Amino acid sequence: MPVLRVALDLPLHRLFDYVAEVASPADIGRRVRVPFGRGEKLGVIVDVVDDSDWPLAQLKTAGEILSDLPPLPADFLKLCEFASAYYQAAFGEVVMQALPVGLKRLAPPVRRNGRAAAAVKAVAQPELTDEQSLAVNAVDPAAGFAAHLLHGVTGSGKTEVYLRLIERALAAGRQVLLLVPEINLTPQLEGRVRARFPAAGVVSLHSELAEAARERNWRAAFAGEAEIVLGTRLAIFTPLPRLGLIVIDEEHDASFKQQDGMRYSARDVGVFRAHQLGIPILLGSATPSLESWANAQSQRYQLLTLRQRANPEASLPVVHILDTRQMVLQEGVSAALIAAITEKLGRSEQSLVFLNRRGYAPVLACPACGWVSRCTRCAANMVLHLADRRLRCHHCGCEHRVPKACPTCGNQDIHPFGRGTQRLEGWLQEQFPEARILRVDRDSVKSRKQWETMLERIHGGEADILVGTQMLAKGHDFPKLTLVGVLGADSALFAADWRAPERLFAQLMQVAGRAGRAELKGEVVIQTQYPDHSLYAALVKHDYPGFAATLLKEREQAGFPPYAFQAMLRAEAPQMADSLAFLTAAAALPEIGEHENVIVYDPIPMKMARLASLERAQLLVESHSRPALQAFLPRWREAVEGLKAPGKLRWHIEVDPFEF
Ligand code: ADP
Ligand code: ZN
Ligand code: ZN
Repeated sequence: MPVLRVALDLPLHRLFDYVAEVASPADIGRRVRVPFGRGEKLGVIVDVVDDSDWPLAQLKTAGEILSDLPPLPADFLKLCEFASAYYQAAFGEVVMQALPVGLKRLAPPVRRNGRAAAAVKAVAQPELTDEQSLAVNAVDPAAGFAAHLLHGVTGSGKTEVYLRLIERALAAGRQVLLLVPEINLTPQLEGRVRARFPAAGVVSLHSELAEAARERNWRAAFAGEAEIVLGTRLAIFTPLPRLGLIVIDEEHDASFKQQDGMRYSARDVGVFRAHQLGIPILLGSATPSLESWANAQSQRYQLLTLRQRANPEASLPVVHILDTRQMVLQEGVSAALIAAITEKLGRSEQSLVFLNRRGYAPVLACPACGWVSRCTRCAANMVLHLADRRLRCHHCGCEHRVPKACPTCGNQDIHPFGRGTQRLEGWLQEQFPEARILRVDRDSVKSRKQWETMLERIHGGEADILVGTQMLAKGHDFPKLTLVGVLGADSALFAADWRAPERLFAQLMQVAGRAGRAELKGEVVIQTQYPDHSLYAALVKHDYPGFAATLLKEREQAGFPPYAFQAMLRAEAPQMADSLAFLTAAAALPEIGEHENVIVYDPIPMKMARLASLERAQLLVESHSRPALQAFLPRWREAVEGLKAPGKLRWHIEVDPFEF
């Protein structure tokens, strides 16, 4: 009898064997019901063989092999295999997380018919600029695998390059996968894609879709009916029979990195997938990740550059660094910024004040006894939200009412310290009573629908002043927006996280890029106490390459990625001592001594050591050779799996870790 090797959704690095009455290699990639424990599970058949490592008589018999879907193709299983090996994630979990919920259920799902997107009229395409033409022509879908990095300043027309390449791929009968950081923030892009290709099937795949819609879209993509798949990071695993091009927009964005469950980078999986299929991949950004930039410098990726804004009327905004050291600020705002906003109001142009901190104030405190609003579950302060009179922890989500008096000493005179967008909004409204002020952050915009409404209001000219967080920074064209004021950026300059400057630069470049997208000239005012900082100097010159070169040199000297390869073992438990003891044991495993190219650091508490009542610690392992690290990790992981740990301790390994 044939033996099925089945991947199950379990955190175990092995396959499960079952005998089947009838099965053939044609069943590889099909879902199958199998007995497991006292119940049943749904798995995916990875192989059909004649024998097993187990005595055949001990194997259980598989149940029904489902045939409502064509088998998952070999390249999909290979992709999952790669991700499983590279990220030390259980293969079955990788396969199952890539499937829509409905297809993971034991009951065979009801077959639903494909998409029915409303037909839209095609829109004219602009004539490409010379730089855009060069970029488009550099990508040759017929030439096999190639990774291209499209570095284009904000407003340089990267999207137009994507659209032309998509057009070519469609003409060649291929499918295209277009990944974006957060679909919520990009309704404009989706609209542009649909409008440009009214005859093509365009489906989106992201976590905010209702289950049924997600499954319908996934099926259309898998069946090859949808030619264009627009998705967030998880979409990188969608099986696509005719995939001919992968595009990753805003490739530097942190949301391409999954931070829980299987910790993977959709960008890196994308490059592997393109390589595997022998197709081109295009990574686009105004501020590429240093990893991608280094790959372009060493010519592993081909660099394509757009230096000018595409709209011939538009120009890059003028960036002013405003030294606030000698200034008296009111609510953190300088008189100069107020004057600039006043001027824009007089001309009926829009201003944006950027403050990347939502809420009213980051903390509530008692001056009498020193009490501050700490979260009892996290190493963090509770943020004051005056609008609904709540104290809220932005890390674990727990919240309660604002106390009327100090919980420690009873003092009734407790104060908010520092400021967030709510407080700024209120204060600006007092300064400009006539102005229409819109606050845009995760508190005022919670759903895609609200975001679309908000964008419509901004476009419709219903706002004179926008107050917002980084939500506002991403790819939007606001033609009337001519002034961007930046507050509170300094706090990220000297953050302990060595990736902070890279992130801050990207963020400021993005938000500055909102100004002057059309004929009206834009200006940016950055308030700072460190006017001579090299980061600000690079911003004034719009000099990403210069700034990237500085950062890369620092990283090379410090031996940080991309000049070293890292993995992190993290443990969390109710007691820090348990977390640290576990990591200490992991650091002492004999497997470590056998791999001389791998360095293991000391276990330390994480920067945010306490989250949701768990004490977290981490152990960094590093190598100058990726293959050496990759050879070490599976053996070490197996040994760590064998360690004894207190029942409440959880651990995981993150390869190419992002946060420290
Ligand atoms: P990016 O994604 O690089 O920030 P976009 O693709 O959003 O830039 O383009 C910025 C603006 O320039 C958009 O309004 C777009 O319609 C316009 N645009 C793009 N390419 C051209 C072109 N070749 N000629 C004229 N306008 C263009
Ligand atoms: Zn007190
Ligand atoms: Zn908390």
